Amino acid sequence: MNNKSIRIIGAGPSGLCAAINLARAGYDVTVFEGRGDVGARFHGDFQGIENWSTVTDFPTQLEEMSIRPDFLCHPYTTGRFYMKGNYGGAVQSDRPLFYLTLRGPQENSLDRSLRRQAEEAGVELRFNRRCTPQEGEIVATGPARPNVLASGVTFRTDLSDTIMATLNNEIAPWGYAYLLVRKGRGTLASVYYRDFPKGFDFLDRSIRHFQKKVPFAMEEAHRFTGYGNFTPVTTAVHHGRLYVGEAAGFQDFLFGFGIRYALTSGYLAARSIIEDRDYDTLWQETIGKRLTTSLANRYLYQIFGTLAHRFIIWRTTRGNPWRFMHRFYNSSASRVLACRPAARWLAGTRGGKPLPWKEEYL
Ligand SMILES: Cc1cc2nc3c(=O)[nH]c(=O)nc-3n(C[C@H](O)[C@H](O)[C@H](O)COP(=O)(O)OP(=O)(O)OC[C@H]3O[C@@H](n4cnc5c(N)ncnc54)[C@H](O)[C@@H]3O)c2cc1C
Repeated sequence: MNNKSIRIIGAGPSGLCAAINLARAGYDVTVFEGRGDVGARFHGDFQGIENWSTVTDFPTQLEEMSIRPDFLCHPYTTGRFYMKGNYGGAVQSDRPLFYLTLRGPQENSLDRSLRRQAEEAGVELRFNRRCTPQEGEIVATGPARPNVLASGVTFRTDLSDTIMATLNNEIAPWGYAYLLVRKGRGTLASVYYRDFPKGFDFLDRSIRHFQKKVPFAMEEAHRFTGYGNFTPVTTAVHHGRLYVGEAAGFQDFLFGFGIRYALTSGYLAARSIIEDRDYDTLWQETIGKRLTTSLANRYLYQIFGTLAHRFIIWRTTRGNPWRFMHRFYNSSASRVLACRPAARWLAGTRGGKPLPWKEEYL
């Protein structure tokens, strides 16, 4: 691609990371965003950026991608992790397990910071401009078709800083529920892969579940829903356009930690243009194996059900949770053993055949 003028469709982390790197390399970049601001698909909720999939710490990776961490990016080495029946306990790691961040258009969020950095680099952002993929060189439009949902609530609370997660199919089928509290603000959510119409039911059950563990008050509560999309990726180049982030299908199939995939793929798309290198080769070399492992892990996770819950919790609440999660996310054994059946399973149940879906689930 020799064109020095690049149009990017979508101003999420993937599109903005590509934009920042291209603009710094001298390209004339315009980003078209369908909504009125960055992060408008989120709700001021806390999200966790996992720090176990690579040996490189997330802030170091940000530095490599020329992104300043001038947003909420707080490391956590401890938390509590449970499954049904109260099995579980404290998780204690010798290195950050994840970085807490904020999503939405407000100050201190990841989205606001990326917008500021893009504007400083000279990127032109056009809001309320919904475009077709054909109008851009890079497509960063996020999840296309929902097949995993989250119902959550943001609130004020008197609870001290807390990180908790639970694997329990009664409150979050095939997914998980989490409670994140920092400096008097909380986010509690259920992430579920089936029974979509029962979303706020799962949320109510998750609230009761966490309040039994640590009683807490919730004020100024705002409910929200969000969605993600799991589609197997074979190529991220369609009709000469580079697809990044969830639009390409880059997602952690196991638990939906998509932020690092979004930033990394945006960065790789920029590099492929700047260095005139093949984008498919770049992402396959960098994230291809991890992506396949996460697909195999999701398949095994659903096949083994509560046994998988017990295994993950047993390993993370004992010994070195970072090392276990790192191996789990990079396991060549699950990749080799489960990859083919996992791909067939995903194509049959999630990728190819749309799940029953109605707009009112959101
Ligand atoms: C409730 C919830 C909780 C989550 N929690 C976590 C977490 O804890 N950790 C984690 O790592 N990940 C989490 N994720 C996933 C993570 O947020 C996403 O993977 C990540 O935002 C994907 O980035 P992206 O740039 O690919 O897409 P997006 O962030 O979705 O950005 C795409 C942008 O494109 C715009 N757009 C779409 N279509 C068009 C169009 N036609 N024209 C113009 N603009 C368009 C959208 O408005 C949007 O702004 C969560 C997701 C949800 C919904």
